[in-house]
Amino acid sequence: MLFETTIAGSLPKPAWLAEPNKLWAPWKSSGAALLDAKRDATVLALKEQEDAGIDIVTEGEQSRQHFVHGFLENVAGIDFANKVEMGIRNDRYKAMVPQVTGELKLKGRVHEYEARIARAHTKRKLKFTMPGPMTIIDTIADRHYGDRVKMAMAFAKLLNQEARALEADGVDVIQFDEPAFNVYMDEVTQWGIDALHVAVGGLSCTTAVHICYGYGIEANVAWKQTLGDEWRQYQDIFPALAKSRIQQVSLEARNSKVPMDLIGLLEGKDILLGTIDVATDQIEMPEEVCAVIEQAMRYVPKDRIFPGTNCGMAPMKREIAFAKLAALSKGAALARERYS
Ligand code: ZN
Repeated sequence: MLFETTIAGSLPKPAWLAEPNKLWAPWKSSGAALLDAKRDATVLALKEQEDAGIDIVTEGEQSRQHFVHGFLENVAGIDFANKVEMGIRNDRYKAMVPQVTGELKLKGRVHEYEARIARAHTKRKLKFTMPGPMTIIDTIADRHYGDRVKMAMAFAKLLNQEARALEADGVDVIQFDEPAFNVYMDEVTQWGIDALHVAVGGLSCTTAVHICYGYGIEANVAWKQTLGDEWRQYQDIFPALAKSRIQQVSLEARNSKVPMDLIGLLEGKDILLGTIDVATDQIEMPEEVCAVIEQAMRYVPKDRIFPGTNCGMAPMKREIAFAKLAALSKGAALARERYS
């Protein structure tokens, strides 16, 4: 089937699980009650995607507070009690971040709970997302390794350990989120892709990397205004990604100033095409989703296009996010009608 749909990863959480409409939202319960709530929210997230007609579903990141720290919480060698302020994404915004204080090691499985629930409750293809090594080291302070690349490679090994286990749990696609790739373009070619290769080592499932311009939060919206009329960050990194072993690239296109011809640089890769803007509450028309697909078809073969969202939907209103999923699915169906 042409134009199978998917999402970048996260969905908003129900208000009974965590405070709605914000990042880093505190949980509403703890202990066994929280585990139960996460389970229920995971099943609901799958159901909402299936009902909307999404083909490759995720667990909506319902079991993690934040897309990076959900992974870090299960890593030994990190001091969460003493956070320090750090500039993130080349000082685009400041955040209080934990510190690496010793050798990094997984405490155990990271995402087994939600991966197994998700696998048991959907027959659709299941994608699982984790933060990429470069994005992780840009979101945590180092008091141990003394070298960014060394620390990134240490994280990449842990990601690989969890990725292999997720594959054994029955996950079909493993995606690493690397918004930092759009900021440190030189480092992507110097070591960022090497680190991703470590993270996907030995996997036989489909592998993907998500590179976007961030959630629709204020700091990102302001940053985008400094990027000029054409966003050409992808131009610096796509040629190297095309040569990489990563099979799919999830990127931003809808309402974006990225020139569409840049996706032509990703020869041989599947394009997880952002056809839904997560920075506005305006619901796309199916025709608008289809129009983005049509633009992309000028530069990549249609059987390599997988319509999706520009980025995660975690901070959005639920009803808006679900309406956007339906629009995505209808837009893809329209394209299928026209070009199958
Ligand atoms: Zn994103």
